[in-house]
Amino acid sequence: MLYGRLGQKVQVRHLSKSFGKVSALQDLSFDVEPGELVAFLGPSGCGKTTALKTIAGLLPGHGGEISFGGERIDHLPPNRRNIGLVFQNYSLFPHMTVNENIGYGLRMRRWSAERRMARVREMLALARLEGLGERKPEQLSGGQQQRVALVRAMAFMPDLLLLDEPLSNLDAGLREDVRTDMRNIQRRTRQTTILVTHDQEEALVMSDRIVLMNQGRVEQIDSPEQLYSMPATEFAARFIGRGNIFHGAYLRDGDKDAVRIEGLDTPLPASTRAPAVGPSGSPVAACIQPEQIVVRARNDIETLKAHWPGAFITTGKIVDIAFHGGSSVLHLDVERAGLIKCRRPVAEVQGLCFGDRVVVGILDCHLMPRSE
Ligand code: ATP
Repeated sequence: MLYGRLGQKVQVRHLSKSFGKVSALQDLSFDVEPGELVAFLGPSGCGKTTALKTIAGLLPGHGGEISFGGERIDHLPPNRRNIGLVFQNYSLFPHMTVNENIGYGLRMRRWSAERRMARVREMLALARLEGLGERKPEQLSGGQQQRVALVRAMAFMPDLLLLDEPLSNLDAGLREDVRTDMRNIQRRTRQTTILVTHDQEEALVMSDRIVLMNQGRVEQIDSPEQLYSMPATEFAARFIGRGNIFHGAYLRDGDKDAVRIEGLDTPLPASTRAPAVGPSGSPVAACIQPEQIVVRARNDIETLKAHWPGAFITTGKIVDIAFHGGSSVLHLDVERAGLIKCRRPVAEVQGLCFGDRVVVGILDCHLMPRSE
């Protein structure tokens, strides 16, 4: 079956764009490999849509270079860039049937009727919309309409597919289904894609790599796993929703990394992407992942020490405990450090209750440069 062709490698170098005095993009550089789905993620106003529109050719007057397969395309008008676009509001043609919507771009590109019909059938199957080709968009559910918009944008085999917040008009339950559908379709076709989203979970679930943006600049480019487990900056850690971020000072102790957190007397074991945080004594942000905190009943301190010999040990009180499927999330009021969130397997914390005084072990924390 002919789904498409592997897109070209997309290279963006030093992209910049201003609106009057507002500098919306500053020196944005990144690659998208053929077949990859890359998400632009960041808070409102960080420049995601501006970047997307600039690549699509809808915002002229920018600095920098955009190339597909090593060839500059930034001088071409939008219709000659071979880019497919999907927006949040579907933008299907209401007076056309699903078949006509999907075939529209093929007709514009003068595909023969026979080739067009074969491609439309293929796209209907890909979007699991067989039998609905003669319906008008209004006769489809929101999720079905968005699947039509997706395959319509892919039908003509674009080098690059751009998705601008494609799920934000759907309600929560449906959004998850369509997200899975879109990801499956992208995986099967290996259509090179950029997705714009402000939703961390959507970016983490859907993309191969994430370009995290902050005020028109790249904050970090990484796989979802890396961004989540090793955020490079305090901004990245906060935006990606890692709990337990403290300020402190980096300590290099022999060949070990540690951090002295404000309020705590003893340094904590730490890991870092040296040399990003600077020399010993530098101010840092420390992220203690909820999974890196262990708890035991007060009288169980010896088992905690035996299980996790390197842990930093302190005491605290359970101020909230909640069951989350496979794990329990506990909020602990930890001596001098304040409130800390901890996530452990349900079986491990069975028997612990709200209000219990506990021993707390901190296994590791991850250091990053502070955001000003
Ligand atoms: P959101 O998630 O809210 O859509 P975004 O990350 O997509 O935000 P952009 O829409 O790209 O952000 O906007 C980046 C900056 O450029 C913002 O400060 C915005 O106010 C500004 N901006 C965008 N479009 C224009 C315009 N046409 N004229 C003036 N300023 C603009």
